[in-house]
Amino acid sequence: MVQEALSSLRQRISQSTGINTARQEPEDPIRSHDGKPNSHAPPNSRRGIRLNRVLGRIVPIILLVYVANAYDLVVVRHAYRQVYLQQGRLLPLGLWLVPTHALFLWSLRAYLRVFFAHSQTPSRSHTNNQNGVLAWLRSGLGATFADPDPADTTISIASVVQGNDVTVELCSADGQPVRCWRDSCNGRIKTFRMRHCGDCATCRVGFDHHCAWFDNDVTAPSTLRPFISFLLSIPPLYALGFAPLFRPTWRSFCGLAASAASDAHIAEVWWGRWYSWVGGPVLRWIVALSLASRRRREQTPDAVRASVVIALGAVFVLIASALAASSLGSLRRGLLTVDVERAKAYARLQRQMQKLDAIREEKDALQKGLDSLGPTQHFRISWMDPDTGEARTEVVALSIDDGLLSHASTAANLRAFLMPSRSTSRPGWDLSEPAIRSLLTKATIPVHT
Ligand SMILES: [Zn+2]
Ligand SMILES: [Zn+2]
Repeated sequence: MVQEALSSLRQRISQSTGINTARQEPEDPIRSHDGKPNSHAPPNSRRGIRLNRVLGRIVPIILLVYVANAYDLVVVRHAYRQVYLQQGRLLPLGLWLVPTHALFLWSLRAYLRVFFAHSQTPSRSHTNNQNGVLAWLRSGLGATFADPDPADTTISIASVVQGNDVTVELCSADGQPVRCWRDSCNGRIKTFRMRHCGDCATCRVGFDHHCAWFDNDVTAPSTLRPFISFLLSIPPLYALGFAPLFRPTWRSFCGLAASAASDAHIAEVWWGRWYSWVGGPVLRWIVALSLASRRRREQTPDAVRASVVIALGAVFVLIASALAASSLGSLRRGLLTVDVERAKAYARLQRQMQKLDAIREEKDALQKGLDSLGPTQHFRISWMDPDTGEARTEVVALSIDDGLLSHASTAANLRAFLMPSRSTSRPGWDLSEPAIRSLLTKATIPVHT
């Protein structure tokens, strides 16, 4: 069992190492290199629900709802109703709204370029199978994933070698082209830094990662730049867009929090009840603040909503900044996200392998223990063959179950221990007579009955 686990681990490690066999997940190992699937290969076994596909449907909707809320709060309610209609001021609005919108549109365009990104050849990816508005949006806004000509798998060496009598191609350790057998790739040849995305069910050039925020792949160079642009635009957009709302929201939040904490009615219907804890402390406060805002509605319109939108925005800013920092940090070292992830997976498998090696050593030690504690002992029997006159030797094993230690009866055993016979001259124990008989029988030496 340990051996099997070891060999399967070794296979996985050799698959996740180096660029020769580069792929996002290990390929089907039972397919052969020359492009013909092994006849025992199971039909596509990687099916089922993929978390990224589910998240990819939910997260963009959450983002859309958030952006609609934030836009309504900032532009419609604050800028238009409060500043323009109530106060009649235009200049500060222009100075603030124009750059905010410019940044917002830039950020939106970067997002949509990744969200609507599509393969060049329409039949290859699931993302291209829609038509109508979506196809129009894709072709109009989305970036295209570069797809190399399957006939040309060579790596350009123009910058190093003049002329074209030298070619460099990606191959596996045995010199065969690296092929992808997953999903519908059907043995397509993989070029350098081309990896299969299990979520999109296709190979991508310069695959970085599949991003649930965009429900699409981030690849270099196609969508990596808009991806990074989007991430980098989030913190300034947040700071600029919410700039006029920070102070009033904070003030009304503090007022609301004070009244939520001190209001006797809220204490009775919410703070004192066990179910106020069900959603956790954050939700407990949000509900309390909503109750407080309802009780003093005329003073603080939208205070709770603005607080939630701004707090959630801060979370987005943190996530975007962390993602941008980690992404740029890897790029700085020439690594894409997939390279970093594969290195982590490799190290993880290596650790497992070391554990298994340790287990194997432990197993050997156990075997030694088993051998030394075994119920069987061996005896060398030497005799002269009466027919041929030859000296013969045989090693015979006898175990406790075969009567090695027994004198055949309770009385005989007790007598042997408690009333040893005085007739033996040598110190030490002799085998019992039944045991000697068994030994001799095993060695096929005739015994007296
Ligand atoms: Zn993907
Ligand atoms: Zn593939």
